[in-house]
Amino acid sequence: MEKGTRVITNADGVYLWDSDGNKILDAMAGLWCINVGYGRKELADTAYEQLRELPYYNNFFQTTHPPAIELSKTLVDISPSQFNHIFFTNSGSEAIDTVVRMVRYYWALEGKPEKTVIISRENAYHGSTVAGSSLGGMKLMHEQGGILTDIEHIAQPYWFGNGGKLSPDEFGIKIAKDLEARIKKIGESRIAAFIGEPVQGAGGVIIPPETYWPEIQRICDKYGILLIADEVICGFGRLGEWFGSDYFSIHADLMPIAKGMSSGYLPIGGLMVGDRVANTLIDKGGDFNHGFTYSGHPAACAVALKNICILKEENIIDTVKNETSPYLQKRWLELGSHPLVGEARGVGMVGALELVKNKETKEGFPEKQNVGMVCRDFCFNNGLVMRAVADTMIISPPLIISNDEIDDLIAKARLCLNLTAEKIGL
Ligand code: PMP
Repeated sequence: MEKGTRVITNADGVYLWDSDGNKILDAMAGLWCINVGYGRKELADTAYEQLRELPYYNNFFQTTHPPAIELSKTLVDISPSQFNHIFFTNSGSEAIDTVVRMVRYYWALEGKPEKTVIISRENAYHGSTVAGSSLGGMKLMHEQGGILTDIEHIAQPYWFGNGGKLSPDEFGIKIAKDLEARIKKIGESRIAAFIGEPVQGAGGVIIPPETYWPEIQRICDKYGILLIADEVICGFGRLGEWFGSDYFSIHADLMPIAKGMSSGYLPIGGLMVGDRVANTLIDKGGDFNHGFTYSGHPAACAVALKNICILKEENIIDTVKNETSPYLQKRWLELGSHPLVGEARGVGMVGALELVKNKETKEGFPEKQNVGMVCRDFCFNNGLVMRAVADTMIISPPLIISNDEIDDLIAKARLCLNLTAEKIGL
């Protein structure tokens, strides 16, 4: 590859090392997943012990195994009270595929098979499989084809980009009402569900105004459509609560989960199924003919279970909520005064910086200038992983980041903003 590839060789806590010996603060927690940080020997030991005890057995044909049972119980325990069932997968994308099949099956069992349309949002990210890329609202993925029918996309609650003269609260209501308008346009009898990430991650850390989710909830309740909260990023403490749904008081019917579930140490995901759907499936459906060879893999379940134990025993989510995320957010918002930054925003352990040409008018840079990539390269070369979504710089550090490490993150981010401003002559 002409540009070359950086080889990451080892990691500890919030830091990575590459094959040239550079130490890099991973402010993206891998891909939003290393919630308990790198270098957890107890997770490696758990995998080793489980692989020796029972390396594999499946969850088909009325069989299961202790790690799957224990993990199911724990997930039911930590999730909102309507969730008493879990369907295991190996990734977020598989959980999304599962949700599409389950939602349509649910409505067929309810005697309304014509309810097949799922409403999602522009710029949403729900994975890379056929169902994931279809539900997602990523233009570049849709342009490459393979997209399912009966999926609709409404506007995203992106106040900085599209709010105009409205206050965030007014904008939140206005955008949520697009859901109602779309339901009416397509016809209520065809709509099966709405899906949304509590905070859109890969789309650029789009944090909805406070008014947004209550209005979405009202509309879903009014029309009786299922509400799917994609918790693949927000789950397992990212916003300082177990789930993004807890943070925004969303009452979801279905929750795809992955990433922080095992802190990325082994691949695992799942679909938490709320009572409304579970009862119909059980009472009217019998077996749901769906599953993967490695669904609920014993080693992955054991590691996920241990990971959740660590989150609990070390009080990581409370610390995020009460100590480190308030500190991160305070320091992160300071970057908002930088001449290159049109908006600094964040919640919990995620944040975004909008890089703009003109702070007053919010005018952005021409796409071909690739300012986000310029900044990202400066970051990597100065010991910091920040991701660029076009010209929005985003972070999602491990939840165990300390205040001193937050200071390191902010100092490096500021340095890289300065270097970027200098390079583009701002
Ligand atoms: N949903 C969301 C919200 C995600 O951010 C992602 C991955 N970034 C997925 C689903 C897909 O998960 P996976 O990559 O594990 O298939």
